[in-house]
Amino acid sequence: MPRKTKKSLLNNLSVVFLFITALLMTTATLFFAVQLNLVKKDLKALESENQLLAADLEETQTILEEIQGKLVLAEGRASSAEAELEKAKANPKKVVYLTFDDGPSPLTPKILSTLKKYNVKATFFVVGNSYPEYLKQIADDGHTIGLHSYTHDYKKIYSSEEAYFTDLQQISNFVKETTGIDSRIIRFPGGSSNTVSRKYKKGIMTTLTNQVKQQGYVYHDWNADSGDASGKNYSPEQLLQNVKNTSSSPVINLLMHEKQATSDALSSIIEYYISKGYEFRPITLDTIPVQHTVNN
Ligand SMILES: [Zn+2]
Repeated sequence: MPRKTKKSLLNNLSVVFLFITALLMTTATLFFAVQLNLVKKDLKALESENQLLAADLEETQTILEEIQGKLVLAEGRASSAEAELEKAKANPKKVVYLTFDDGPSPLTPKILSTLKKYNVKATFFVVGNSYPEYLKQIADDGHTIGLHSYTHDYKKIYSSEEAYFTDLQQISNFVKETTGIDSRIIRFPGGSSNTVSRKYKKGIMTTLTNQVKQQGYVYHDWNADSGDASGKNYSPEQLLQNVKNTSSSPVINLLMHEKQATSDALSSIIEYYISKGYEFRPITLDTIPVQHTVNN
């Protein structure tokens, strides 16, 4: 091979080599550039994801703080409710149920006007078929109407179960027709503990106290007596003294009747209970009844 040709061949090889090297380098550069771009894109995506996560974290923290705040409030309320309960236990509510038997009567308007003056609600255990306009006034004023008796005739009503329920239905009808009220609250004439009924039928009160319950009535006796039906003709001052002497229990059911002295004493009786911290309530179906021991 001539020397010149050999040199030219070497030159050509170098060129090819250089070209290949350049090509490889360019490819590598391009490859890395693409890779770099991909990494950059990933990084950007991660960054924005990171921002979202940070925002989520902040929101979660805010919610957590709110929950903690509410928890503190709830704890506060629970402890104040507990304190209220303790207070209520230490100082039970004193309640008096004023009850008036044997009306309506010509004294009903006076009694109603005194009750209205003190904004006090009471319970009237009514009889007979007289003074329907007063009966209606009792209901209109928001007092409770209880059924006492239609005839109030012991001999008649306590002679048999049938006789008692016939009489009870009669007073019930009178109240319903006059006021629209279907009363289920009752008081036996003489109370459930009366022994007068023994004269007319042995064991009648035991039967009746069970029967009225089965028929959906609730009977209420009393645990405090004004004494206004004792036949002793007490003056209003003496009636007040009787009331003061009779009971200091936290729940009082006071027996009164529609009598002149009682209506005269009513203001002072109400004021006495106010001074002793009592609250006045009318009897309702939710009231836990005062009931005597049955003696016949
Ligand atoms: Zn009576």
